[in-house]
Amino acid sequence: MNGDAPLREVRGVGPARARALAEAGLVTVLDLLRHVPTRWEDRREVVPVSAVTAGSAFTLRGRLSEVRRIRTRRRGFSLVRAVLGDGSGSIPIVWFNQPYLFQQLRDGEEYLLHGMVRENPPHGLELLNPSCEAVDRAFHSARIVPVYSSVGSLGPAALRRLIDPILTDFDPASIPEPLPEELLLRRGLPSLGEALVALHRPGHDVSVAALNERRSPAHRRLAYEELLRMQVAVALLRARETAAPRTLAYRVDDHVRGVVRGLLPFRLTAAQKRVLGEIVADLRGPHPMLRLLQGDVGSGKTLVAALALAVALESGFQGAFMAPTELLAEQHFRSLERLLGKRYRVGLFVGAKRGQSDPRLRERLAAGEIQLAVGTHALIQEGVVFRRLGLAVVDEQHRFGVRQRALLRGKGDQEEQPDLLVMTATPIPRTLALTAWGDLEVSTLDELPPGRTPVATAVVPAGKRRAVYKKVREELAAGGRVYVVVPLIDESARTAAASLAEAEERVRAELAGWPCAVLHGRLPAAERDRVMQAFAAGEVKALLATTVIEVGVDVPEASCMVIESAERFGLAQLHQLRGRVGRGMRPSCCFAVHGRLSEDAKRRLEVFARTDDGFEIAEEDLKIRGPGDVLGTRQSGLPSLRQARLPDDWELLEQARDDARELLGRLGEEALEGLRKTAEGETAGWVE
Ligand code: ADP
Ligand code: MG
Repeated sequence: MNGDAPLREVRGVGPARARALAEAGLVTVLDLLRHVPTRWEDRREVVPVSAVTAGSAFTLRGRLSEVRRIRTRRRGFSLVRAVLGDGSGSIPIVWFNQPYLFQQLRDGEEYLLHGMVRENPPHGLELLNPSCEAVDRAFHSARIVPVYSSVGSLGPAALRRLIDPILTDFDPASIPEPLPEELLLRRGLPSLGEALVALHRPGHDVSVAALNERRSPAHRRLAYEELLRMQVAVALLRARETAAPRTLAYRVDDHVRGVVRGLLPFRLTAAQKRVLGEIVADLRGPHPMLRLLQGDVGSGKTLVAALALAVALESGFQGAFMAPTELLAEQHFRSLERLLGKRYRVGLFVGAKRGQSDPRLRERLAAGEIQLAVGTHALIQEGVVFRRLGLAVVDEQHRFGVRQRALLRGKGDQEEQPDLLVMTATPIPRTLALTAWGDLEVSTLDELPPGRTPVATAVVPAGKRRAVYKKVREELAAGGRVYVVVPLIDESARTAAASLAEAEERVRAELAGWPCAVLHGRLPAAERDRVMQAFAAGEVKALLATTVIEVGVDVPEASCMVIESAERFGLAQLHQLRGRVGRGMRPSCCFAVHGRLSEDAKRRLEVFARTDDGFEIAEEDLKIRGPGDVLGTRQSGLPSLRQARLPDDWELLEQARDDARELLGRLGEEALEGLRKTAEGETAGWVE
C-alpha cells in the first residue's frame, strides 16, 4: 500500500465509508495515517481478574455472563451490566450510557477488555466503562493500543481496524518525506513515515506516558513540521515585504533635526530617544521599514510616532496614522494636531462603516494637500488615495489583521513601498511575535516618562463596594478625576442600554453632588467628543464608561478607576483599562470590583493585583488563555496548530525559525513554496 493510494482500495472501506472519510477530508491512505491517535492505552499485559486492584486501568480477558440492561428512572441515563470471569475469578462490569452494548455483547463469549477498576462499596471492585472487543476480532491484545477521535460515524475501534492492517508489511519509506533530510538529521527527528508508524503502532518498549504527554520523538517530528511550515510562510512574507529596495529617500539632516526638536513638548525619555533612533535608521536603510514598537501603556509611543511622521512630512511625503476605534482616532487626531498642526495639514478620516469619510477631504488627500491622514479603517477603504505615502503608523496592532496591514501598505505607489511602524501596548510575548507578526524588527519602550507612580490596585468583592465609593469620593474631594468602567455583557442593544442605565443610576447615587457623564460606543461622534473634552477639561469629574476607553484614552488628570464586574474582563484588557490612570503626577488607584469568581477569573485578578508590568501580564495572559485566544486565531491569521503546543513548544519553534531562515537564504523563495502549505493544504497563516 502506498501513501497516495485512494482509501477505496483499503480493505474494509466500501463506497459509503469512503464517502464518510472524504467528507472529513480523508481521501488517500496518507490522509488517514495523518489522523493520528489522541491517546494510547497500555494493554501490553493481560492480567488475571484475581490480580486487579482499585484505582488503575487493566487489560483483562475472559467470558461475559449476566449481560443485562438496567432500567433507571433518570431520563437519558442508562446502565448496562455484566460479569467477567476468567478462571482466576470474576468481576462485575458497568457501562454508563452505552445502551447499544446490550445488543452487541453475548453471554458466554470471550472478550478482551480494558478499563479502570474502582471500588464500589459495599459490593467490592468493579470494572468501569471498559472498552470491549470480541477476542476473535481483537488484534490488539498485548499491545499499546492507539485511541482515535471519531471520523464521522467511524469510532475508535473501527478506525483501529482500518488503520492497523495498512501498517502490516508497510514500508515507512513509501511515504514521501516532505521535509529536507538534512533538517531531520540536524534536529534528530524521525522521517514522516517512521513517525506515523510509531504513533499508530507504538513499539512494545516505548513509554506510554511519553506518548500520552506528546513527548515522543514522533510527536516532536510532527510538531516541528507544522512549525517549520509556519515559519517558512513567515520568512517568505518577510522576505517579500523587506526585500523591496528602498525608493523613498528621507531627508535627515540638521534642518530636519531642528524641526523635530522644535516640536517637542518635553524632553524625550532615554527609551524614546533610542527607539526614535532605531526608526530613523530604518528610514535611511536599504529596505522599507517593517517595525513593531511595543511599549507598556503610557510609555509615550504616540510622541515617538509623531516625530517619525514629522521626518516623513519634512521629507515631502505623506503620513498615515491608523487607530482601531473612532474614539481613539479622534483623540490621536487632536494630539497630533496639537503637536504637528502648526507646521503640517492634518486630516481626520473616520466613518469606515458607512463609507462616508468626507469626499472633499479625500480629494485633498489625493492632491497631497493633506499631509497627515489620521483615521480608523476608513483609511484603507477603496477610494482613499494618497499622493505619495511615506510612513504609515498603525496603533494598537493587535486589533488589526495582517490583511489590513497589507492594504495600508498597498496605499503607496506600487513601486514605492511605504515604511510601516506598528505599535502595541500589549507587549507581545516573544513566542507570539514570532508566529503572528512574522518576526518584525522590534523596538521597545521600556521606560515610563518621569514622575509616574505605580497605580495602587485593590481587588474587592462586590459586597464591599460601599467602601470603594467612599474612597472614590475622597479622591474627588482631593481634586482627582475618576473613571468607572462597566462591561457590556450583552450584545443586544436594549439590554446593553438597560445595564448601562442601571450602572449609571448606581454611580450617580454613590457620587451624588459630583458632575458625572456617560460614555459608550453608541453615542454619536460629536456627543462622544463633547463628553471626552468635558472630562479632559475637568468640567466632568466622574466618567462612567464602557470599554470604549480601553485603549489609548489619555487624560493625565484622571487618578482613580473603578472596574465593575472585573471578573468579566480579560487580563490584557484589565491592564489596558488601568493604563488610563497613573498618567499624571497624582498617585493613582484602581479598584477591581468583582462578583462570583471562576478559577480562571481568580487567577487573572491575582495577577492583575500583583503586577503592573505589561510584559509579565502578557506572559501570564498567554499561559491562561493560550495563543489562539490572545490574538484571536482568525484575526491574527495564526494557523490552527494541531500537533504543536505553544508556548510549550517554544524551543522547537525557535529551531524551526532558524531552519526556515537558513533554507530561505540558501535555496531561495521558489524552492520553499511547497513547504509553505500545511499538511492539510491550508496556507500556513496569513500569507495570501
Ligand atoms: P502610549 O500610547 O504609549 O500608551 P502616550 O503616547 O499616550 O502613551 O503617552 C502617555 C502620556 O505621556 C501622554 O500624556 C504623553 O503626552 C506623555 N508623555 C509622552 N512622552 C513623554 C515624555 N518624554 N515626558 C513626559 N510626558 C510624556
Ligand atoms: Mg497610545
